[in-house]
Amino acid sequence: MVAWVFFRQRWLHAYLVMMATMVVDLDHLLASPIYDPARCSIGFHPLHGWLPLAIYGLLACYLKTRYVGLGLLIHMVLDSLDCQMNLGVWSV
Ligand SMILES: [Zn+2]
Repeated sequence: MVAWVFFRQRWLHAYLVMMATMVVDLDHLLASPIYDPARCSIGFHPLHGWLPLAIYGLLACYLKTRYVGLGLLIHMVLDSLDCQMNLGVWSV
């Protein structure tokens, strides 16, 4: 929806790049168990930390990396919403 609304002329490219940023969840492979529904990803997994989040924000500010940065920021917002809905917290 973000790709279609904000990047209409290159929406497919924007969409595919933003969807590809889901590889950030590979950092879950470092945790044990890999998936725990009672665990908040934000602040726990290495690529879901505050420093990476700041880097994603910077990436979103530059033209060449904006789709990557935006995709990662959207991912973090959705993960944080998941934490709030399931655990009542925004981050660890
Ligand atoms: Zn995630």
